[in-house]
Amino acid sequence: MSDVTMEKIISLCKRRGFIYPGSEIYGGLSGTWDYGPLGVELKNNIKALWWSTFIRERDDMFGVDAAILMHPKVWEASGHVAGFSDPLVECKKCKKRFRADHVEGGKCPECGGALGEVRQFNMMFKTQIGAAEDEQSVSYLRPETAGGIFVNFKNVVDSFHPKLPFGIGQIGKAFRNEIAPRDFIFRVREMEQMEIEYFVRPSEWEAAFEEWRKESLGFFEAVGIEKNSVHELEVADGDRAHYSKRTIDFEFDFPFGRKELSGLAYRTDFDLAAHAKASGQDISYLDADGSRTVPHVIEPSFGVDRTILALLTSVYTEDELGGETRTYLKFNKAVAPVKAAIFPLLKNKPELVAKAREVYMMLKKVIPQIVWDDNGNIGKRYRRQDEIGTPYCITIDFDTLGENPELKDTVTLRDRDTGEQERVAIGELIAKIAA
Ligand code: ATP
Repeated sequence: MSDVTMEKIISLCKRRGFIYPGSEIYGGLSGTWDYGPLGVELKNNIKALWWSTFIRERDDMFGVDAAILMHPKVWEASGHVAGFSDPLVECKKCKKRFRADHVEGGKCPECGGALGEVRQFNMMFKTQIGAAEDEQSVSYLRPETAGGIFVNFKNVVDSFHPKLPFGIGQIGKAFRNEIAPRDFIFRVREMEQMEIEYFVRPSEWEAAFEEWRKESLGFFEAVGIEKNSVHELEVADGDRAHYSKRTIDFEFDFPFGRKELSGLAYRTDFDLAAHAKASGQDISYLDADGSRTVPHVIEPSFGVDRTILALLTSVYTEDELGGETRTYLKFNKAVAPVKAAIFPLLKNKPELVAKAREVYMMLKKVIPQIVWDDNGNIGKRYRRQDEIGTPYCITIDFDTLGENPELKDTVTLRDRDTGEQERVAIGELIAKIAA
């Protein structure tokens, strides 16, 4: 991954159908990217890994999928209406706008012109609910998924009566009107988050924080993000949100520098207390001894898009194989968008194609992320699959049909990383690919 640049990643993503610029035929729309056929598979695999690790495989976790549009009071109570803003400056000469904290030297980074006053710019996308256009109809696209978790705390407690500590997780879209979207999918206006609010008794927060610190690192590793490129930044007192007693930013060495990949924050009882006050509802927790508490919360917050960018940076590899340079993505099997590709050696031999089709259908029933490729010579097909990170290529040839009776019903299984090929019985393929 040492030589990887953003240009190489962006170009491969576009060429091979992972990620395209949003609304591209109209010249693009800043801060939006569209996931193509391979990108959506990769993204779904990562979300599925997160969901099974943190929701399904644990008995102290609950999942929700809340509406993106929420009552505007949610964002008043959470402090977003008053304070979810970035400092904005405008160049007096070219009128371009920048985030004040991203500008160095007090001059316009584009034209060198003088900059105007810094003002606060609220990053929530405002929208309107229903036909009437008045103050009552204002709503926002959620700027984070956490809000949908806090407003459902009481519902989940009433339905499931969980014992503390327990958590609620959600995956979904979030929207931020970033002043300067940049660096591909790193800073976008429409993104996806995977967030957990883990509710604890106040005395338990330190242990839970430590547990989620380790869990976060474990998740990055399971995704296939390079371990040595992840760094923990203890956010200093003055830089944390006022309600947070401890925050760690997990940073990653992206090609453009070390930047935030995900966050872990101890948010005290700030959110539940604020929603209780603003809604007038009792959202405290009734403990076994009859006492009522407002639980405190640990929040691990992952960005799907930044996870994907950190992964692409980690797995992008250039090497030499058989005297030729090649590019490949070293995805692990869990996240690879395609697990194996099936090749009939020649596409104009019906008996080969029929046998290959049989193997393809048999595998696809068990492992759906399998593709068929009969285009060009085998070498070309290997290059193509390497570039999209397919761990295995399977070739069906005349020996499979029994030309060499000893090799009947065996195929060539080629490993992406080593390029090595072995002869494997068709009956063993599923175990090999899934292992
Ligand atoms: P930054 O300081 O980089 O703007 P943040 O501290 O505002 O990020 P959080 O509010 O902690 O981010 O959001 C949680 C996670 O959501 C981030 O760690 C990141 O993975 C993701 N995220 C936030 N903003 C964006 C964005 N504009 N584009 C892509 N992902 C984002």
